[in-house]
Amino acid sequence: MYTAKFGGTATAPHNLKYVLSLIDDNMGAVVVSACGRSFDGDEKVTDLLNLFYVTHDEMVWRKIETKYRRLVEINGINIDIDKLLAEKKRNMCGNDRAYCLSVGEELTAKCVAAATGREYVEAADFICFDEGGRFDYRETKCRVETLANQKFVVGGFYGGKRDGGRATFERGGGDISGAIFAVWTSATLYENYTDVDGVCVANPRCVFCPKVLPQISYGQMRLLGSCGAEVLHPSAVDLPQKAALPVVVKNFWGSCGTTVYNYPCVDDVVSVTCRKTDGLYVTSVLHNLPDMGARAIADIARDVKNCVARCELSRDLSKIYASQDLTVETYNAFFQA
Ligand code: ASP
Repeated sequence: MYTAKFGGTATAPHNLKYVLSLIDDNMGAVVVSACGRSFDGDEKVTDLLNLFYVTHDEMVWRKIETKYRRLVEINGINIDIDKLLAEKKRNMCGNDRAYCLSVGEELTAKCVAAATGREYVEAADFICFDEGGRFDYRETKCRVETLANQKFVVGGFYGGKRDGGRATFERGGGDISGAIFAVWTSATLYENYTDVDGVCVANPRCVFCPKVLPQISYGQMRLLGSCGAEVLHPSAVDLPQKAALPVVVKNFWGSCGTTVYNYPCVDDVVSVTCRKTDGLYVTSVLHNLPDMGARAIADIARDVKNCVARCELSRDLSKIYASQDLTVETYNAFFQA
């Protein structure tokens, strides 16, 4: 049995029908995110919930309602969504931010459970945090292990606190929930369905059709995540690594994806990533070309020196700190030569 985690684009109203056709009997835990963007410029439900928590603006709530009504309507789901939305809105009043943010995952999971006829499992009863919101490893392990061999749908990203409230992981933390359910229900595979084809040699939103890496190691995945690759949350790698559980990151529309396991990618240049830290863009290159890689980075930095603050060159991970994202320049230098 394996665990499948579907991200926010997969669970957006117009995509769900296709996603429902992917859910099969080999899947034990099905972990879902709140509805994400349906089109460029659209808002994610989690962002809308955050805005509603801050502003209590009825217009914002209406946008959330509209998304879930559409989800139910266009996918023909038999659930009383109006009643559920009204109940959640009531519960959100007087509750904290974590509770409000968790509502998107809860709603999606209840809808997917109703659509598939699977059991709905309440994440707050299995993913445990202490009163201060710190993840409770032991208690979570004990509880999640009782779900081994069961087929169910659960919301990612959040859990329950000892005092009865809710807590969330960081944004993008549905990947961490997926890893928890995969490892502690003894799944043989953790499939993480997202909206890109896998882990690419550069951000597919910045460069055209970058190559997908067929395999990378857990350590490389964690490194890429901490350097800005958003495809899989870096903390979602720890538990699978300890359990030697393969993680496959793939597109829900179909792709072979990337297998994250014990075998590293040994290509000369593994991937170009970028993240913004303290006002500067840090473009990083993970490379297996000990000196040449670093030298190539130094050349790029020289070419665009007007925006470069400094470089850090090393045997396998080199970085350029600059006032601009240099993904395209760096990708062109390594992959378009
Ligand atoms: N819905 C949450 C977010 O947008 C968590 C997730 O999707 O992983 O960050």
